Amino acid sequence: MGVSRSRARVAASVAVVAFIAASASVSGASALNVTSLEETLSHSPERWTYWSNTQLTEFVQGMERGSPDRCKAYTIGESAMGQSLWVLSVTKVPGVIKPGRPEMSLEGVPAFLYVGNMHGDEPLGRQLMFYLAEELCAGAAEEPAVDRILSSGVVHLLFSLNPDGFDLKTRGNANGVDLNRNFPDAIKRKGNLTLLGTEEPESEAIARYAAQLGTTLVGATLLHEGALVVNYPMDGAVSGSKVRREANPSVDDALFRYLAQRYIDVQPELQRNPEFPTGKVQGSMWYPVYGGLQDYLYLEIGAYCTTVEMNDQKWPDEVDLPRFWKQHRASMYAFLDAYLSQGITVRFRANEPGASVVVKAAGASLQVARAFLDLEAGEEVSVHFPVPTGAYKVAAEWHGDDPQHPELAAAEVEVRPDARASLTLARPLPAARGGPMRAAGFVELSDASSSGPSLVGTANGERREEGVPPSRPGERNYRLNVQGGMTSDRQQPLRDAVLQNLKNRVESTHNASWKRSHRAQEILHASYFSSGLMVFLFVAIVVLAACRVDKTPRTRARGLV
Ligand SMILES: [Zn+2]
Repeated sequence: MGVSRSRARVAASVAVVAFIAASASVSGASALNVTSLEETLSHSPERWTYWSNTQLTEFVQGMERGSPDRCKAYTIGESAMGQSLWVLSVTKVPGVIKPGRPEMSLEGVPAFLYVGNMHGDEPLGRQLMFYLAEELCAGAAEEPAVDRILSSGVVHLLFSLNPDGFDLKTRGNANGVDLNRNFPDAIKRKGNLTLLGTEEPESEAIARYAAQLGTTLVGATLLHEGALVVNYPMDGAVSGSKVRREANPSVDDALFRYLAQRYIDVQPELQRNPEFPTGKVQGSMWYPVYGGLQDYLYLEIGAYCTTVEMNDQKWPDEVDLPRFWKQHRASMYAFLDAYLSQGITVRFRANEPGASVVVKAAGASLQVARAFLDLEAGEEVSVHFPVPTGAYKVAAEWHGDDPQHPELAAAEVEVRPDARASLTLARPLPAARGGPMRAAGFVELSDASSSGPSLVGTANGERREEGVPPSRPGERNYRLNVQGGMTSDRQQPLRDAVLQNLKNRVESTHNASWKRSHRAQEILHASYFSSGLMVFLFVAIVVLAACRVDKTPRTRARGLV
C-alpha cells in the first residue's frame, strides 16, 4: 500500500469505537442543544467542572451516537497506565465519516487538530474543548460560521494527551516524564526526527497518529496553561542553549505571526497582557524548548503548529470556567476558520512514477511551499495553505523523468475572507513539453460552501466560461491566469539545490515509512535556501546572537508552561 494512502486514512485498528456500546450515562452536558454563547453560559453548574477521564470517554461516545454522520470517536493509543487517548473527529465534508464503519477517508481533506492537557496539571484547554465539541457536533453545527468550518475540513479534537497526569494532577505522565520534551528534536539530533522507540506511549501515539494524518494535517494547536500568549515555532534555539533567549524564526514565520494574530484579534485578555504586549511570541525568544511537540509536528509532518497558553494560572478554579469559555470561544473558532475555511488548496496529480513536486504560493506578505517526493503514477496529492487574504501566485514544479527540466504549472488566485480557493494543477502533457510556453495546467475553483469544484480553465489555457460558478451576493470573483507548461530560467538555482537534495536524500533516510516527510523537508529547505530567505534568517540570527538579546530571565514561566 502506498505511503500516502495509509497515512491519509485512520486505520481500523485505531478507530475501534464505532462499535463500542456505551451503556454508562453520558455526561450531563452532552445532550445540550447549544446554539449561542448566551445559551451555553446559562446551563447548570455541574457543566462547569473539570470532567473526569471517565466522563471524557462517555462524552466522546455520546457525541458520536448523537451525530454519527459528522462525529467519530476513536482512540489513538493508550497512556502509560493504559487509559485510552480519545479523539473526536468532526466534519460535514461528504464521504469522510461513514456511520457505522470504523475507518475515515481523509485523503485530500484539510484537517486541524486541537491537543489538550499534554501537561496533566493544565486541564483548562481540555475542558474548553468539550464545550467546543458540543457546539460542533450538536446544535451550532447548523450555524453558518460553524457550517463553513465543517464543510471545509475535519476538526480533530484530542482532549487529553496525558489522562494519567490529569488524574495525578502532575505535569508529567505516570512515569514522571514531561511529554513536551519527549519528541525527537531537530536541533539536538541534527535533523533526524525518527522515533527512537524509547518515547513515552503518549508521545509515540500522537506521533504515529500525526503521521497517519500526514499532509492532510494543515495545522495543530496545543493548549497549555501557565502564561497568556500565543507561541509559535521554532521553540528550539539554533545554539542549543537551554537558557538564553535567541531568535530562531522558521521559514514560515510570517505565516505563523498571521495565524497567531487571528487568535489574538478576538481575545481581549491576550491584547492587554503586559508581559507579552503583542500577545504572541516565537518560542525560542521566550525560552528554548527541545523535544517539544510543536516543533516536531511542524518539521516532521509539515503541520503549521502553534501553542496557546490560555491562562497565567494553572488549573484555575472551576467557578471561572464560564468566563474562560467566553474569553477563548471566539478565538478557538477563529483558528478553525484560519486553518480550514480560508486559504488555498492545491491538488496535483503525478503522471508517472517517481515524480517529485514542489508546490508554492507567493503573495505580497508571505510565501509558503511544500514538497512531495516519489509520487506514484496517477497519485493525487492535496496541500492546503492557510494564508491571509490577498492575491497569490500558485505554482507546482514537477521534477519528473527528466530531472534537468522541471516543468511548471501555475495560476493566480485571490483569497477572500473566510473563503478557500481550490485549484488543481496537472503536469504538462507530453506534447507541451520542451516546446514554447504552453498552458498545460488546468484550474478548478471552488469555495467552501459550494458542492464541488467547477472547471474554469482548461488544459490548453482557454477559459471555459460555462464552468464558472454562478455568482451570489458577496461571493468571490477570482482572477485566474493559467500559465502552465513553461520552464523558467529563473528557477535554475532552486532546481540545482533541489536536485542536489534529491541525490543526497537516499543516504540520509533509513526508515521507509518516514522517508517521504524527511525528504520533503530537505527539498523544502533547499527551496527556501535558494530563495535567499535562509541566508537572511541566518544573518539575522547571527546579528541577534551578537547583540546578546538575553535579558533578565522570566522566572515564572521558564520551562514550566
Ligand atoms: Zn504546558
